[in-house]
Amino acid sequence: MLRDSFGRVATDLRVSLTDKCNLRCTYCMPPEGLDWLPNAQLLTAEEIVRLVTIGVERLGVTEVRYTGGEPLLRRELVDIVGRTTALTPRPQVSLTTNGIGLARLAEPLAAAGLDRVNVSLDTLDAATFKRLAHRDRHADVIAGLAAADGAGLRPVKVNAVLMRGVNDHEAAPLLRWCVEQGYELRFIEQMPLDAQHGWSREGMVTADEILGLLSGSFDLTPDDLEERGSAPAERFLIDGGPARVGVIGSVTRPFCGACDRVRLTADGQVRNCLFATEESDLKTPMRAGASDEELAERWLAAVARKRAGHGIDDPSFLQPSRPMSAIGG
Ligand code: SAM
Repeated sequence: MLRDSFGRVATDLRVSLTDKCNLRCTYCMPPEGLDWLPNAQLLTAEEIVRLVTIGVERLGVTEVRYTGGEPLLRRELVDIVGRTTALTPRPQVSLTTNGIGLARLAEPLAAAGLDRVNVSLDTLDAATFKRLAHRDRHADVIAGLAAADGAGLRPVKVNAVLMRGVNDHEAAPLLRWCVEQGYELRFIEQMPLDAQHGWSREGMVTADEILGLLSGSFDLTPDDLEERGSAPAERFLIDGGPARVGVIGSVTRPFCGACDRVRLTADGQVRNCLFATEESDLKTPMRAGASDEELAERWLAAVARKRAGHGIDDPSFLQPSRPMSAIGG
């Protein structure tokens, strides 16, 4: 088991399939994009499946989430998902995506066994989308969401980041729309993970503020608080339910004590925390001929070193050198 020195066990593996993205969301990267990893440094599909297999078969991983960058840009995605869902014990397999291309890929992904998707959508307004993501692709995301629902990748979850003065006025309309469509919306506090290092505490729309913005339009009551476990979202019943909304207060309401996540970057580095400043290289030893057992040992050691918390509130906090798109969100 991937146990750290505080007794937490990592069972939820987030795998970044690429650092590239076809959007340029302000809270993530600059409009001109980033220096992408050279192809030779990216794990091949074979290498990804090998490491995921070690995680599932030897290290107790029960959930695999493919992300990025934008995972739909990875041509072998359907094959990777199919090989992951064929593992024993069968992990839960999900995808975090911006939804562009999902209209075409939702059915093949469902056929490969994908269980569900999280689609990022921060606004209902195409012009705001273009301003926020620097690409005119709002309609593609909406179509992708509908296709995911149609393909049975449910519950379809929607991730939204609110930015002050950009889309924070849309909290209630976005939630109403998601409820109407049957999607479960989760608001995520903006985290200091943008490549431009432009995050500020004052600029962040906090979980408290988000709940305040919603309370004028909805009656929210805490749901399943005792069953929250390691889930990052605090969930609320909307107007008595059954529809729900989640609020992920990563910064102001950290959940590090219950964290069960571990990450694998697209270039084969284990990260024991989104905010880790150290990584453990699995790619180099793998390419040098390391056995599955040796790779598992390295992975165990990487998780054992996990810190108690992300430390954003600590004066010595340092933003990780890699941005969210390179870590895998
Ligand atoms: N491209 C995919 C997508 O858009 O969902 C997957 C990768 S993206 C990094 C994963 C999630 O991280 C998205 O929901 C995105 O909104 C969120 N995200 C990116 N930068 C963030 C930040 N600085 N703070 C909070 N969430 C962020």
